[in-house]
Amino acid sequence: MTAAAHNLFGLDLRGLEEVVSGLGEPAFRARQLYAWLYRRRVRDFAAMSNLSKPLRERLAEQYVVVWPEWTDRQLSYDGTRKYLFRLADGATVESVYIPEQRRRTICISTQAGCPLKCAFCLTGIAGYTRNLKAGEILGQVATVMAEEPPREMAWNIVVMGMGEPLLNYEATVGALRILMDPDAFSVAPRKLTLSTVGILPALDRLAAEPVRPNLAISLHAPTAELRRRLMPIEEKYGIEEVVAAARRYPIPRGGLVTYEYVLLRGVNDAPEHAHALVRLLKGSRAKLNLIPLNPAPAIPFEPPTEEAVDGFCRILSAAHFTVSVRRSRGQDILAACGQLHLKERLRPLQGPSSPAPQAS
Ligand code: SAH
Repeated sequence: MTAAAHNLFGLDLRGLEEVVSGLGEPAFRARQLYAWLYRRRVRDFAAMSNLSKPLRERLAEQYVVVWPEWTDRQLSYDGTRKYLFRLADGATVESVYIPEQRRRTICISTQAGCPLKCAFCLTGIAGYTRNLKAGEILGQVATVMAEEPPREMAWNIVVMGMGEPLLNYEATVGALRILMDPDAFSVAPRKLTLSTVGILPALDRLAAEPVRPNLAISLHAPTAELRRRLMPIEEKYGIEEVVAAARRYPIPRGGLVTYEYVLLRGVNDAPEHAHALVRLLKGSRAKLNLIPLNPAPAIPFEPPTEEAVDGFCRILSAAHFTVSVRRSRGQDILAACGQLHLKERLRPLQGPSSPAPQAS
């Protein structure tokens, strides 16, 4: 077996119970191990002081506790810190730490690459490699938290990095359960937001989970016709059904569903689009998050003008929606979706005989 097969990090309580019972130990040991892994976040078995010495030794012989390793880390002038993780098989994913006045946020990835190919998203342009495992998702959070000094300020976690979380349901929701568990990472459900294009069966499944995160829907267009041009997934899960599913979603503590809308100059940023959006979302308990495009040479769109953003925002506010405009963070370090990963992948392209990046 490979070292990866022995990694305990990412197993839930049931998985750890199997491990300890395989070693002939009582089930309560699993709970102790679980607390070391996810509450204390200790990786060295020798430091797990309430486990007997022989058990610690046997664990160390057969298992490891490994977080994914970061190989590149960049700090922006605004304090945003971006991590590039290289996973055991060489796949790379990004996470971003975003400090703000009154909160601090970690943005995590759930897939290496993404199969959805949204026209304005670098991750999609670069292609898809694989689903992450629960431990690789949790490990991003553990790494960033370990780097930051403990403070009174609560953590926010947004599942808005690379990949479509609802195409990797088991690992993503498995990781979220451990994040939200008061005996583990203890992140309050209302401090956690999952962003999705709306993979319908998985979205209804998430809605039925006993503990759920907040929901953000990547909308980006007010009509099926326009959305289809930007997001191929519209063919499979149409905008009307996605909005209907989001309206049914039980948000923690009576909050609001967030709709994300990337503004693209001359494409979806006109007043008529804002009015159509108002009609689409009428009567929803919804919050609109307008995101001026984060441009990059490989992206065939331009950011909107400030006037277009203002105009769009005003129409939605006048219709009594809560609107926020996402201030771009960490632009000097390419912190937008997929950019650090792409930089890494494009590096070999500098030589004349190098292969093109693989879009699988
Ligand atoms: N697949 C999920 C989560 C990852 S993308 C989803 O689509 O929601 C997280 C958010 O970043 C999405 O709303 C996505 O549309 C947005 N995004 C992607 N590329 C962007 C870019 N170049 N500029 C601004 N936002 C972008």
